[in-house]
Order: sequence, then C-alpha cells, then structure tokens
Amino acid sequence: MKNTFQKVIVALALMALSITSFAQSPKFKVLALYTTTVETDHVDFAKEAIKFYTKLAAERGFAFDTTTDWDKLNDENLAKYQVVMWINEFPHNEPERRAFEKFMTNGGAWIGFHVSGYNDKYTKWPWFVDFLGATFYNNNWPPLPAKLIVDDNTHPATKRLPKTYVAPINEWYGWKPNPRDNKDIKVLVTLDPANYPLGKKNLIKSGDIPVVWTNTKYKMIYLNMGHGDKVMTSNLQNQMFEDALMWLGSK
Ligand code: ZN
Repeated sequence: MKNTFQKVIVALALMALSITSFAQSPKFKVLALYTTTVETDHVDFAKEAIKFYTKLAAERGFAFDTTTDWDKLNDENLAKYQVVMWINEFPHNEPERRAFEKFMTNGGAWIGFHVSGYNDKYTKWPWFVDFLGATFYNNNWPPLPAKLIVDDNTHPATKRLPKTYVAPINEWYGWKPNPRDNKDIKVLVTLDPANYPLGKKNLIKSGDIPVVWTNTKYKMIYLNMGHGDKVMTSNLQNQMFEDALMWLGSK
C-alpha cells in the first residue's frame, strides 16, 4: 500500500515538473528589431506591433524579445533565435547585413513590416533586393484605408482571411520591379485596383501592387502594413499578423 502511495506521489511530482518545463520552454524564439529615431508614424506602429506580439507570445507559448540595438544582428546572438522580425527599419552596416544573410541562408526565418522592405539605389544591398524580390517605386500620401484582394486563401498566413477586405489606414508602397514577376515570389495579398487613384498629395494611379508576399527560397514573409497607430485595429487583418508569425515559427 505504502509502495503504491509513493508511486502516485512520484508520478504527480513528475507531471508537475513536466507541466512546469512545458510552460518554461517556448515553442520558438523571436527577436524583434525596431528603432525610435524615425518618423513618428513608423515608431507608433512599432509600439503597437510590440504590444500585439508580446500578448500573443504569452498566449501561444513563444518567446518574443525586442531591441532597438541593431548590433544584435550578429552570429552569436542570432543563434538563440528561430525568427527575426524587423519593424520599420533595416540594417545599414555591413556586419549586420552579413550576419542576417547568414542567418537566412542557414534556415532562419524573417517577418518584415513596411519600411523593412524599403530599398532604392542608395540602399546598396543587392542580396536584400534578391531576397525581397522588389524595389520601392512609389507610395500614396496621406495614408489611407484600402481594399485588398487576398490572392491565396490556402497559405497558412492568409487562411483566415476572406477573398477581399478593407485594411485600416496605411501608407501603401508600389514596387518596380513587381515582385509578382519574380518566379520565386508567391504573392498572397494585393492592392485592389478599385482603390485608384489612391492618395491626395501622392497618388497611386495604376499598377499591380502586391502588399504581402513570400520568397519561396527562404522562410520569409513581407507585409507592407506598418504606418501609424491604426494598422493593428482590424481583428480580421490581425489574424494574418498572428498566422504569419506562427507559420514561420513552426517551419
Ligand atoms: Zn510609412
């Protein structure tokens, strides 16, 4: 009798231990990099995104670390993470860029918002142009809501979205070359041409403008959303922000 009692105690103790260790070991680890030295609307979005993903991390059991120190893009630090998130900024110096390239080439995952995908003739980072599959061309101003077309409702990132929806206020970017023309790019969401002309001061008048896509050569997703403090106000669209990260974390 005593023996059985002891066995039950031991079994209960082991169960408690495994529950504790489950709670303590995250499914995957995310490093989110942002900056506070850019335009207010871009910092506002970063703060909203950090709030959103911090809450999500607690709910869904992953680790979410944030930093404004882009030197954290180094081999030693990146080895601790499965996913890197850029919120409205990108690395400007060679060591950070090389460490990121290595991280991605070795199977790391990336999610980038809005300015994170920005590149032009002054950025001088050909690897990133190939990685993103696009170069910034134009934008609307002021920021506006826009009707979006969901190209693919079967992808893990967009599976909970309807065929079309109206996204909250954002500054939308056009791209040249168009990422859709790149054989490695899979476009998931596109600006509906019904929005044109979009803007007042700066108009987007025409064109096929993808807003969310993935480069199938990597574990990555780019989302053009990320301007101002209204982007995270759509529960519908937030499902994509959630599903995109969970997809990368589980890959
Ligand atoms: Zn912007």
